[in-house]
Amino acid sequence: MSQKTVFQRIIDREIPAEIVYEDEQCIAFKDIHPAAPVHILVVPKKPIPTLTDLTPADEALIGHLFVAMKTIAAQLGLKSGFRVVCNCGPDAGQEVMHVHFHMVGGRTFGWPPG
Ligand code: 5GP
Repeated sequence: MSQKTVFQRIIDREIPAEIVYEDEQCIAFKDIHPAAPVHILVVPKKPIPTLTDLTPADEALIGHLFVAMKTIAAQLGLKSGFRVVCNCGPDAGQEVMHVHFHMVGGRTFGWPPG
């Protein structure tokens, strides 16, 4: 049985996803259970399990992801804003152990989050 996460399987094209952006360092695709009219998962191709596994060597990669999010927001027409969320660990409800950022938009959001 494969030990790959579902996101690694999407990166490797073993399972389908609605990909909206891809470059050499990251991939972005629609969340299968959207929490908003726009819900994109932005995932580095490097399989880092969670935010607390990041090292200084990953600084440029994480910066790259945020610049990619700016491109994706423009591509998807998120003119009035969007939210970026990173769930880290069990208290935050992280389900997939491959670090990723949720981009949600297309509606307004409350604060603080639930
Ligand atoms: P987490 O709770 O780990 O931050 O978020 C994982 C997200 O991945 C969830 O919002 C969930 O809906 C999404 N997800 C889980 N499996 C799949 C899948 O096979 N395809 C896609 N596109 N999204 C998935």
